[in-house]
Amino acid sequence: MPGDEYALIRRYFQNLTATRADVRRGIGDDAAVLAVPAGHELVVSTDTLINDVHFPAATLPADIGFKSMAVNLSDMAAMGAEPRWATLALTLPAAEPGFLEPFCAGFAESAQAHNVALVGGDLTRGPLSVTVQIMGTVPAGSALLRSGARPGDQIWVTGELGSAALGLAVLQGRHAGNAPGLDACVRRLNRPAPCVQVGLLLRGVATAAIDISDGLLTDLGHVLRASGVGARVELSSIPMGVALSALPDASARWQYALGGGDDYELCYTVASGEAAGLASRLKASGCHASHIGSVTAGDAIAWIGADGVAVDFGARTGYQHF
Ligand code: ADP
Ligand code: MG
Repeated sequence: MPGDEYALIRRYFQNLTATRADVRRGIGDDAAVLAVPAGHELVVSTDTLINDVHFPAATLPADIGFKSMAVNLSDMAAMGAEPRWATLALTLPAAEPGFLEPFCAGFAESAQAHNVALVGGDLTRGPLSVTVQIMGTVPAGSALLRSGARPGDQIWVTGELGSAALGLAVLQGRHAGNAPGLDACVRRLNRPAPCVQVGLLLRGVATAAIDISDGLLTDLGHVLRASGVGARVELSSIPMGVALSALPDASARWQYALGGGDDYELCYTVASGEAAGLASRLKASGCHASHIGSVTAGDAIAWIGADGVAVDFGARTGYQHF
């Protein structure tokens, strides 16, 4: 590796994030050496953000940095894992301080909020692309899986759905106006708040969990398929923010709330006897969760409108790359 490249790594990445005692060797060797606590399992996930695919080309570098860490933290949340370490593979057209400084500040802000240490990575020249690998731990056997939902379980979602997708429509000029709450939608798109603490509270209680990155229609479908069950969802219980609730066109509302991506909320199932206790523990931690339906035998999702009649969303699904 040329000396100037390592100078860049030292300058921007070496002391960017939390120092943790479980990092035996971090940035600067051929690989990181990390201490997994006895009796725990390693939980690993990676997500790539590509310019103009995962964020509009005009997105601020600080937001790109923040989001690249936040979406990976969301995968830890969905597993009930405690995030600890991350690596960063960064491809850039040029090593511009005007990009790298704010990018690193945003990345560090999200990482520090969850005490994650950056322990290694890679730096290459090419079209802008950011790949983060995140590593966390769970006590052995306690990871939240997609496959544990059982008929009779309740289905819950945290926060609100569809706001980030509405924020993207604002940025792309598909939705105009200055209704209250639209700025907050754009902020949710650029600065997602991963539900890491919620994931820890779900551990040992929820029967299945997933983070909603591609829209509830798609992501609840993943849980049901993995669990071999169906669901009945009450549309009137789907939580939406003020800007989305105010949209007059119901079909557009559902498209954002159920088909839009980038929510990074959690959808979980829980035995009905455990649901109320869990909801009050979540509330005490500052998280509002909504009971939206129940798990059924079979393999279909019935979306029930306010009039009690099933609504057919046809083949509309979340974002798919291929
Ligand atoms: P090599 O090519 O020998 O694998 P690298 O040049 O890729 O080494 O990296 C040297 C050190 O810097 C390694 O510890 C690596 O993990 C770290 N590193 C490289 N790029 C980054 C980055 N973007 N963020 C954090 N650490 C990095
Ligand atoms: Mg390398």
